Amino acid sequence: MLPIYKYWQVPYHLAGCKMYDVLAGKENMETSYVMSKGKALKTYPALKSDRLVSTVVYDDGQHNDSQMNIALIMSAVKHGTVAANSCEVTRLNKDGNGKLNDARVKDTLTAHIRGIINTAGPFSDALLTLDNPSHKHIVRPSSIIHITLPNHYSPRKMGLLDPATSDGRMLEEVRSYLSTNVKVRRGDALSAWSGLRPLVRNPGAASTEDLVRNYMIHVSDSRLLTIAGGKWMTYRGMAEETVGVATKAFGLDNRVKSGYVTETLRLVGTHGWSRNMFIGLIQTYGLETEVAKHLSESYRDRAWTLFDTSVSLYVPFSFPFLLYLMVTVLPRHRTEVRYAVRHEYTLTVIDVLARRAYLFFLKALAALEVFPRVVDIMADEFN
Ligand SMILES: Cc1cc2nc3c(=O)[nH]c(=O)nc-3n(C[C@H](O)[C@H](O)[C@H](O)COP(=O)(O)OP(=O)(O)OC[C@H]3O[C@@H](n4cnc5c(N)ncnc54)[C@H](O)[C@@H]3O)c2cc1C
Repeated sequence: MLPIYKYWQVPYHLAGCKMYDVLAGKENMETSYVMSKGKALKTYPALKSDRLVSTVVYDDGQHNDSQMNIALIMSAVKHGTVAANSCEVTRLNKDGNGKLNDARVKDTLTAHIRGIINTAGPFSDALLTLDNPSHKHIVRPSSIIHITLPNHYSPRKMGLLDPATSDGRMLEEVRSYLSTNVKVRRGDALSAWSGLRPLVRNPGAASTEDLVRNYMIHVSDSRLLTIAGGKWMTYRGMAEETVGVATKAFGLDNRVKSGYVTETLRLVGTHGWSRNMFIGLIQTYGLETEVAKHLSESYRDRAWTLFDTSVSLYVPFSFPFLLYLMVTVLPRHRTEVRYAVRHEYTLTVIDVLARRAYLFFLKALAALEVFPRVVDIMADEFN
């Protein structure tokens, strides 16, 4: 919901949202609409009524980028990729013609390669420096900060969008939109984190200042292919273009048998999944509805493997005793830890709690609470 405080802004913001609707085409979820002040205050009672004239409501998508990333890696592995976690490229070696032919990966692997694709995001320059210490730096990292607030501040499935965020203090900003009888306290924040987004410039461009609008692909003289920048929205296009450039740069054209499959490739987990799959999980394993929905949404049809993992090997009890919530407020299941170790390249507790189960990003205290239990399960897995 976009709260609006000046009448002229109603058509302005509605037109902007309608443009989104049009650009989304048949992928659009719901059409955006104006919600009157009275209805908005009924729907969103915590909203401040002072000076409010109207609101515009539009639908936005949300995804679990940790699990999306893992599904992408597992899909690549299914199609022949070899993946490794926590392997840092520390040296690039070249043949007599100055072309890259070998990478030293800390600390156990030396990979003999046809080509190297640098996808190090905000750290892309580190690899470019290994290739050519005097290269022009391409990344200008931009820091983004998120805080998570409890869901009693807004109605279910609705949030507030501030179209003109200032660089001010975030909690102050939230307070300015909510009724004065809603006290937004610092201690209410469930988690806070900061990350680096790689804004990039093309090393081939004449000006060193201009940032590219979206992403850039560059092949160095020694054939280090760098892809940097971009958004989740365009990842398939970026991947397909990169593979196209790579096959040419690395002399692999003859290995392309029948064009590219990237655009329509289905990720692992999607083949046997339906929106009702969670009901099957409830019926088979007696799960709480919220847990079953979480597992179905996050792992798709891989959720069945999650239980194969624990039932067959580690949980001596049969239904219903294997049911066990790691955290009561957020639906998480202990089988997710074993599954992460066995199937999702997990090596550390932080891998599990932040990059697989997503707990640190949603509720930091819950993550700390289950920390010792996760350590125990991982210790058991790793002997
Ligand atoms: C807080 C935040 C919010 C964002 N929100 C959105 C959003 O809403 N929508 C959206 O589309 N985008 C969003 N982005 C941007 C998006 O997440 C990034 O564009 C994307 O993560 C960049 O992907 P990447 O693969 O290029 O880099 P990364 O995801 O940063 O991955 C780089 C990888 O390279 C590894 N690496 C680094 N150096 C080496 C080395 N020497 N050897 C081996 N590996 C190495 C790193 O460990 C890392 O795993 C957001 C970014 C941040 C930080």
